[in-house]
Amino acid sequence: MILGLIEHDRGMLNEMSLEMLTFGRDLANRLNLPLEAVLIGEGANALAEGLQAYGVSKVHLVQHPRLDDYAPEAWAQSVVELIESEKPQAVMASGTDRGNEVLAYVGARTNLPMAANCTEVEPGDPYTVTRVRWGGSLLEEAHLTGEPKLLTVAPFMIPVEEGEAAGELVLNTVTPALDDKDFRVRVVERVKSTGDTVSLTDARVVVGGGRGVGSSEGFESLDELAALLEGAVGCSRAVTNQGWRPHADQIGQTGARIAPDLYIACGISGAIQHTVGCKGAKQILVINADPEAPILSKAGYAVIGDLHEVVPVLNAEIKKLKNQ
Ligand SMILES: Cc1cc2nc3c(=O)[nH]c(=O)nc-3n(C[C@H](O)[C@H](O)[C@H](O)COP(=O)(O)OP(=O)(O)OC[C@H]3O[C@@H](n4cnc5c(N)ncnc54)[C@H](O)[C@@H]3O)c2cc1C
Repeated sequence: MILGLIEHDRGMLNEMSLEMLTFGRDLANRLNLPLEAVLIGEGANALAEGLQAYGVSKVHLVQHPRLDDYAPEAWAQSVVELIESEKPQAVMASGTDRGNEVLAYVGARTNLPMAANCTEVEPGDPYTVTRVRWGGSLLEEAHLTGEPKLLTVAPFMIPVEEGEAAGELVLNTVTPALDDKDFRVRVVERVKSTGDTVSLTDARVVVGGGRGVGSSEGFESLDELAALLEGAVGCSRAVTNQGWRPHADQIGQTGARIAPDLYIACGISGAIQHTVGCKGAKQILVINADPEAPILSKAGYAVIGDLHEVVPVLNAEIKKLKNQ
């Protein structure tokens, strides 16, 4: 059997799981094996019925009084127990932060290798997988050993397709043996992002700031520019490392992928790990003090100069145009 871990947030399905099920169903069909799914936490029970339309014949409902929110080690332990009782040939999850995190813990607890962000799989022993590396700039062919095979499916690569499983959907309720050490990492507080500003991934204009901005206060003029253009502010990892902006604002390989009409990159050098996150932008305007900055090779327009001088002038001009 092929087992897919369904990702949800307190009962809200992450649509990436449907991509993973589409990928898993294709593998299961080729191996003539059933596709089964695991839903962790009582709040997700209602999702079970809908999974049959994606080829799932059996859903394992993991229930435990402490599984009321995401806790990666507890989720991993739940999967480990299913591996022991159900003996799947492969276990897969979405290649999201949570999917990769849970399967990495499963790998650590079972001493099995895990292949992250796969786009193709050729079963056998070992499996041959193609996986995305370096934020999409490289596709790697790798061999995946172990029993079961642990892999995650690269997001946005597999078009979701329905394919109903035959027969009645079987539900199997299980209660894992979890203890305090499984809850060392857990959600302790949820903080709603403030304001009614447009989100980074939906914004038509994104103003990005890098190390060149110099401080969290330095972002004031970038915030103003984004507000004037009804856009959002993003940043490089150098900025989140400094604690100038939250990680939610980070653009790049380990941050958000953006595809705005215009990306204004201020004081950002253009490391590959950053540019993979903004390569979907239709147009890039660079503001940088260094005429040799690598990001200039991606720019349609550039202003060479100090962003602390250029951005306020830009803001003043836009205000004039808007009669503000
Ligand atoms: C595994 C891994 C994952 C990573 N993931 C990410 C990721 O998701 N996102 C990401 O961004 N990075 C990521 N990085 C880090 C990445 O490699 C770079 O270190 C980072 O992007 C550099 O940030 P920066 O361009 O802001 O800083 P720098 O490279 O230091 O560049 C600063 C730029 O600002 C310019 N500048 C300085 N002062 C001014 C001024 N007053 N006016 C105008 N310009 C000025 C400089 O000329 C320079 O070009 C990752 C790295 C690794 C190893």
